[in-house]
Amino acid sequence: MKEKNPYFVEIPRAMPREVPVALRVLGWGEIYGGFDAGQGEQQAARCIDCGNPYCEWKCPVHNYIPNWLKLAKEGRVFEAATLMHETNPLPEICGRVCPQDRLCEGDCTLADGFGAVTIGAIEKNIVDLAFQQGWRPDLSDVRPSGRRVAIVGAGPAGLSAADRLARAGVSATVFDRYEEIGGLLTFGIPPFKLDKDVVRLRRQVLEGMGVEFRLGVEIGRDLAFDALLDHYDAVFVGTGAYREVAADLPGDRLPGVLPALPFLIANVRRLLRSSPSSNTDRPDPVRFDESGASPDSSAPQTALAPGLRERSVSGSQDLTDLDLRGRHVVVLGGGDTGMDCNRTAIRLGAASVTCVYRRDEANMPGSRREVKNAREEGVRFLFNRQPLQVLGTDRVEGLRVVETRLVADGRGRARPEPVAGSEETLRADVVIVAFGFRPSPPDWCRSAGIELDDGGRLIVGGAGRLPFQTAHPRVFAGGDNVRGADLVVRAVHDGREAAASIVEAFATAQAAAESVTA
Ligand code: FAD
Ligand code: SF4
Repeated sequence: MKEKNPYFVEIPRAMPREVPVALRVLGWGEIYGGFDAGQGEQQAARCIDCGNPYCEWKCPVHNYIPNWLKLAKEGRVFEAATLMHETNPLPEICGRVCPQDRLCEGDCTLADGFGAVTIGAIEKNIVDLAFQQGWRPDLSDVRPSGRRVAIVGAGPAGLSAADRLARAGVSATVFDRYEEIGGLLTFGIPPFKLDKDVVRLRRQVLEGMGVEFRLGVEIGRDLAFDALLDHYDAVFVGTGAYREVAADLPGDRLPGVLPALPFLIANVRRLLRSSPSSNTDRPDPVRFDESGASPDSSAPQTALAPGLRERSVSGSQDLTDLDLRGRHVVVLGGGDTGMDCNRTAIRLGAASVTCVYRRDEANMPGSRREVKNAREEGVRFLFNRQPLQVLGTDRVEGLRVVETRLVADGRGRARPEPVAGSEETLRADVVIVAFGFRPSPPDWCRSAGIELDDGGRLIVGGAGRLPFQTAHPRVFAGGDNVRGADLVVRAVHDGREAAASIVEAFATAQAAAESVTA
């Protein structure tokens, strides 16, 4: 008798419904919808429970993936959502924005030959469904501890910490300089990857758990950091990394040269139709200085690759003009931020969008899925090209580039070297610089006794300290300000673990107080 094919062969890997390219470039909606009826269960059933769940280990928060895939297969949506939240305070967001090909799905046993289980899409789908059906985290057994923690930064690190503290009965108040929660989830990642309603819903969920948000408050400007230390038992600092790496090119100050993040933020704010703060002195996301540090910050910096420098971008570029219709746009950089700029420019009506990257495609740091999406939407990729000069007199008129070849010198990634005589000029009206971000420690870090490393990252953990505890015993930190620019899921991990350390510190202090009284 012919043996029945295993399920993972019969049912091929499938992503949820995808909006056709011709439609998706006309709007800002997420490009993936939900699974069709029964399809999510089918996809979850492709997991063979291989016994060596490398996916779990590769997932930075170590999700119990095979266990919740089993629940998803059986249609037990609420139980699956509950299990997902045990390890990940923001599963519907990670399911959308994680570069799964480099994380969980990249190490799925089926990845080689059969197609990995669509872990991220299932994670997103289950939590979306659970929320639609009224599921909410159950905190009915949680008893208030009487402890209060201030969280600086409502990005994924801060939100994750807030979730874990609320579950431990600790009152969490989250401060953010922006008028919405989410950090880069709201103001950096474009809505076609992460709909802003998803973040708004998460805000409602957290508020339902007792988390308080105080938005439009910049610590160090509107409220002193010391005031937090005076009024709260501990502080978690999740302020991100906002110092843009600029291209050190002749002509890079010409109107029409745009740094990536202010470009993306301006577009998101336009879409959110949220008016800029009425306090015109307040650093506003539309403005260029997104560094979070004063331009003359004394934060030490490590060396950058040749040709790059960093700056707190400020100045004259006209970002209110987001109409790219008829313009030729060149995006410099091959990471996820570059892909977001490429795809945003396409939606803003650019006549052409060219992504210039100095290494080859195999060496691109961004998610493969995002490169594929950008290509489908009409982005042209020019690999092995290094920018030399932005051309123009009153504004950008072109970009001079040179071809590169990769040279392996036995020290990490192959180095791009210019090929003599291969210079060419690209047509460009707008050049968007997406070379990444470096830490931007707030000035009050030093005065609060928080140690920084040579690159400006907050130092946490180490001898005599709890994980994610800084040199100040009541201050904890995590996310991009500790790691440098990284991933949402790693910020989520740090917030979760920092909250665990805070709770442990409270327990130790309590035990010490009780032993003195006894
Ligand atoms: P952030 O998200 O930056 O949040 C920090 C918060 O702190 C901000 O809201 C800020 O306003 C607030 N803050 C700072 N200083 C103060 C202060 N003094 N007072 C009050 N508030 C303050 N990662 C992925 O995994 N997938 C992706 O697809 C992806 N795409 C990206 C696209 C772009 C354009 C960018 C820039 C990054 C992307 N990332 C992506 C990276 C990811 O967004 C970050 O790693 C993650 O958001 C870091 O989280 P965080 O909480 O540490 O910091
Ligand atoms: Fe994969 Fe990210 Fe979900 Fe972990 S959190 S299972 S890496 S999508």
